[in-house]
Formats: sequence, C-alpha cells, structure tokens
Amino acid sequence: MLRQYPYKYIDRSRFYRIAELDDEDTYVQIIGEVTEWHTIGIGRAQRLSATFFDGTHQCELVWFKGVQYVKLQKGIKYLLFGKPSRFQHIYNFVHPELTPMSKVTPEMTQGLEPYYNTTEKMKRHGLNSKVMRTIIAEMMPDLKMGVPDTIGADILQKYRLMGLTDALVNVHFPKDTPSMQNARARLKFEELFYVQLQLLRQLKRRELNLGFAMPMVGARFHALYKALPFELTNAQKRVIREIHEDLKAGHQMNRLLQGDVGSGKTLVALLCCLLAIDNGYQTCIMAPTEILANQHYETLKAFLAPLGDAVHVALLTGSTTAKNRVPIHNGLLNGTIHILIGTHALLEDDVQWQNLGFVVIDEQHRFGVAQRAKLWTKNRRVAGAGEAMPDCPPHILVMTATPIPRTLAMTVYGDLSVSVIDELPPGRKPVQTIHYNIERRAQVYSFVRKQIEEGRQVYVVYPLIKENEKLDLQDLQNGFNELCEAFPEYKISMVHGQMKAADKDLQMQRFASGETKILVATTVIEVGVNVPNATVMMIQNAERFGLSQLHQLRGRVGRGGDQSYCILLTDNEISSDTRKRMNIMVETNDGFRIAEADLQLRGPGDMQGTLQSGTPFELHIANLATDGQLVAVARQAALEILDQDPLLEDEMNRIYKRRLDTLRIEAHNWSDIS
Ligand code: ADP
Ligand code: MG
Repeated sequence: MLRQYPYKYIDRSRFYRIAELDDEDTYVQIIGEVTEWHTIGIGRAQRLSATFFDGTHQCELVWFKGVQYVKLQKGIKYLLFGKPSRFQHIYNFVHPELTPMSKVTPEMTQGLEPYYNTTEKMKRHGLNSKVMRTIIAEMMPDLKMGVPDTIGADILQKYRLMGLTDALVNVHFPKDTPSMQNARARLKFEELFYVQLQLLRQLKRRELNLGFAMPMVGARFHALYKALPFELTNAQKRVIREIHEDLKAGHQMNRLLQGDVGSGKTLVALLCCLLAIDNGYQTCIMAPTEILANQHYETLKAFLAPLGDAVHVALLTGSTTAKNRVPIHNGLLNGTIHILIGTHALLEDDVQWQNLGFVVIDEQHRFGVAQRAKLWTKNRRVAGAGEAMPDCPPHILVMTATPIPRTLAMTVYGDLSVSVIDELPPGRKPVQTIHYNIERRAQVYSFVRKQIEEGRQVYVVYPLIKENEKLDLQDLQNGFNELCEAFPEYKISMVHGQMKAADKDLQMQRFASGETKILVATTVIEVGVNVPNATVMMIQNAERFGLSQLHQLRGRVGRGGDQSYCILLTDNEISSDTRKRMNIMVETNDGFRIAEADLQLRGPGDMQGTLQSGTPFELHIANLATDGQLVAVARQAALEILDQDPLLEDEMNRIYKRRLDTLRIEAHNWSDIS
C-alpha cells in the first residue's frame, strides 16, 4: 500500500468563495449552508438537487446515485468539497462531499490531500481513492517508527535525498508542497537508481564474460576496404575502431550503433562482419522484415562482388522453402557460410552454427531482449570438431536509426555500450520538406511529374488508419488507382504487408531497377529500403504518423546526389499538435532534434509505454520522458557503486543486492502474469 503513490494532491488548506470559481478549477472546498433541496423522479432514476449558499452566492449540488443516503439539514454549516462545472451562470457540483463543519477535523483541511489511481475492479469492491487514503492513513503511526532504507546513507547525503521513512510519509501526507516534492524526488531517484543498477550490473557482468577474441585485421577486410567506391566517413572509421577494440578485448561485446538514416550503418556492419570472418568466425545480420533482409542481402552481395567467392553470404527468411533450407543448415554447421542474413527465422531452433562469433541486429526496437538472448545459444558443439571453442556468446551489435534523447538511451539501451555515427556521407543534399494540404494535390502531382520527367522516382506512402487490414488495403488500392489515372504514362508499383513475399519482392525489384516510377506503399518501406534514384517521398495523411516515423520515411530519399523532397500531405483541418509536428519536419533534418521534439509533443504518457519495455522494472513514480535529468544522476550514483564492486559482493553493498533481488522477483512475477 505504501508503494502505491498518489497521482495528485489537492490543497485542502485553501477555502474558496463561490464568486471566485472559474472554469479552470479542479477540486475546491467552500463553507456554506444548504438552503433548499428537492428530489426528482422515482426509484433508480431518482435524483437529488440542492442549493448551496456561501453567504453571498449560490451554487447547485446534484446526486444521481445513493440519493437515499444523502441526509441534508438546514441551518448548519457544511464543508463542501468537489469539482465545479458551470452551466450557464450557475456552478454545480455532481456528487460532492458534504461534511458538517462540526465533524471536520483539523487534519482534513490541513495541507495536501493525496489521490490514488484505482481500477474499475477495485472501485467495485469499494476500494476507491478515499478508502485507499483511509487505509494508508492508518498505517502512518507504524510507518513513522521507521522502515529500513533502500539507499545507503552515503548516497542519501551526497545527493541530498530524503530518507525512505520520511519520503513515504510525505509522499502520502505531505506537510507542505516542498516536502511533497522532496519526497517524490527521492522515490523517483530510488526507482531510476535501481533500474540503472540492474542495467549496469548486467553490463559489468558481461564485461567480465569471456568473449571470442578477434584480434586480427585480415585479408577480406582489407580487400573490401580497398575496393570501396568511396572513402568511409570519419564517423564510420571511428565506430569501426571502437568495435574492433571490443572484438580484440576477449570479452563479449554488446554495443548499440546509433546513426541517422543514410549514415551508412550497413557498410559498417559488413566491415565488422569481415573482421570476425577473417578471425575464423561466422556472422549473421538479423532484420525486422523480409523486405529489409532481402535488401541487405542484395546490398552486401553488391559490395562483396569484387571479393569473388572469398565471402559466402546466404539468405534465410520465413519464405525460404524447406528444400532451400537444407544447404543453408549444412553450410552453417560446416562453417562454409560466412554471413547469414535473415529475419526472425534465424532464431528458429534448427538454425545451428559451427561458430557464430558476431551478430548484427538491425532496427532493434522490434526485437526484444529475450530474442537477443536466444542468439547466445546457437553454436553447436560438434563432437570431435577439433579444438574446443570457448563456451561464450557471440558479440552483438545492435543498429538503430531511431534516435532517442540521450537520457532515455541510458535506460532503454542502458545495458549496451553506445557508438554513434554522427556524420552523413559527403555530397548529400539535405532533403527539402514541404507541407501541403490535400487540396493542393494537383500542384503536387505536377511537381511529381516534373521529377519523373527528369528521370527520378517517387514514393507515395499511405498510413495504416483503420486498424482493419481490409479497409486499409482499400485505401491503398484507391490511392493506387488515383495515381494510375493521374500518371497514365508511367508504370506504378504497389507493396503492402498483406502481399506474398515473392510478389512484394517483384514489385520492389521493378521499382529498384527503375522500371516503375512510382512506388505506392504502406509503411512496410519505412526501414532500410535503398533506391538512390528516388527523390520524392510523398506522405499521404501525414497527420497520422508520429514524428520519428515521418523522419524514417523521409530518410528513404536523399540517398543519391540529386536534390530530394519530402512532401507531407495533410487534411485541411489539422490540430495544433499536427501543425507543430509538420513544422518541425519542415524545419530540421536532425534526427536527435526530432526525437527531442517528439518526446515533448507526445508527452510522457504516450512515450512511457514504449520506453518501459526497455526497463527491467516497472516505474511507478519516475517518468522517463520528464525525469531525464534524474536518470543521469541515478546512473552516476549506480556507476560509482559498481565501479568499486561490479557484482555487489561487498558487505556494505548488501542492501543494494537484496533490493535488486526483490525487485527482480516482483518484475518476474508480473511479467509471468501479463
Ligand atoms: P543506414 O542503414 O545507416 O540508413 P545505409 O547503410 O543504407 O544507411 O547507407 C546509405 C547509402 O550510403 C548506401 O547507398 C551506402 O552505400 C552509402 N554509403 C555508405 N557509406 C558511405 C560513404 N562513406 N560514402 C558514400 N556513400 C556511402
Ligand atoms: Mg539501414
């Protein structure tokens, strides 16, 4: 009960006059008398309506439920408490609390009153916010005798945090606003601190893990490096060095590679695979969709063409036939396949390797931590296969083009080391973004026609709107038909999630080869598709997309040397939030700025869900979206402890170890239930 924190407080020390009320007020309390009342209707439809008078003005009180329990009396003073709403000139209170002044205790009107979230089910069983408050209030005398703290005195002192007993007392029944804020800050810190302690302990523990040592920079790596038609950017070089440092160290790498769309992550991944292969290991690249896996396969084969058959690449996806799987399974087991590219299919049990040493996971937000863990157990120890390999997990490189604000990355990817490609290949012209409302479609079409006449290609993307695949498909089909009518002289491709993989591939292929000039698609093309000749990204119903999704889509153009354009089409009438989103897209191409803006606009609630999936424990009071500052502090505090004692074995760190164990057990139970 004590760890169920209030979600808001109402200042009960303030008394209002009816004349002061305005439409902004939430809960208020007023002293006055009930001057008149009457009931309307009978039985269940009965309602009670009363007039309340504070000496100068009147308001109205209404009860729909439990009318028979409401006992009113004239000529005595009441304390009215409730939420006013205004109808014409009269304020009214529906189901207010009405307490005779003779029964009002000083505690009731002292300081901040806590409000608790309860579920429908709790309410049905009589456990509403008020009852919660009563129960917790009864626990206060016991609580005040003191509970053992979950944070050591040194940290409390260093970061000026309230002790646990004080914090629990003041989070529920704060003396005043500053104590409430201090109590909440302490409890938020505690949550974030344990999240960081858990993540960083995992990271530290893995740093102690043995990993395959890959010290050599070998022939294949050098051969590709020399054959590249361009110079690597400095950022790419730096990241490859960082990864190579990890590979040399003999410990298992878990690294996140962040880089905006088009920053050249795929090539970095490939070069790192070659590092591993030159040291005698196999590698794999796991992509979230089949289209993307295919694209990676084609891209890698093209890059590797100058190397002849020195590197053997295979592709395994859900649509690989049983017959075609046999040689792949064999090639993995006998070590002849160097790079396997694929989707979730790579995780299937019958995919077994001789010596998988390096794993790349592209666009990781779609893969869970559990799936990552599965890749650890893929090497088959073949009896008599020569020298025994050390029994350790492969190195893991997670790539994401979804920038997230730094403080959040600390939590969402808190157990990974981070590399950033913060530079685009030279010669790219920033994509120009334009926001039009749909009525200017004709103008947009004529612009598109011009681009196609100049030899360029165009994406047209439709959102998933109706959460109903059939209807969405209908929208897409209508859009496709409309474009066919508008551009009768050009061939148009269409891809969507419901198509057979082979058909999808065919259409993508036609677009990639330039045969079709326009590709109409749902967001299946969001990640990874690479057609440098495409210069226009036209997004229909752009108001339906989140900022980071829009940014991802825009990243599909601007990949060649030509000026590219992103056209955001929205309805005529859009909300102010949508307008803000469109303006940000028009203003900046910087993924990190967009991520920050996304966080501000979508607000904590919306982000929390997404972000939570990255935290080891549920957060009850801290909020990753708004408490970023505190995340950094908590991480710092956790690091100070773990730097001294990575596994929390010291006697003086026992409280941390114990608390972590408790939290883990709770988290585990909850995830089982959910
Ligand atoms: P990401 O996966 O990070 O979005 P890609 O790996 O798809 O980016 O790279 C985008 C494009 O840039 C590809 O066509 C790739 O071949 C090209 N590219 C990568 N590195 C460089 C570089 N250093 N110079 C020029 N072009 C590059
Ligand atoms: Mg990519």
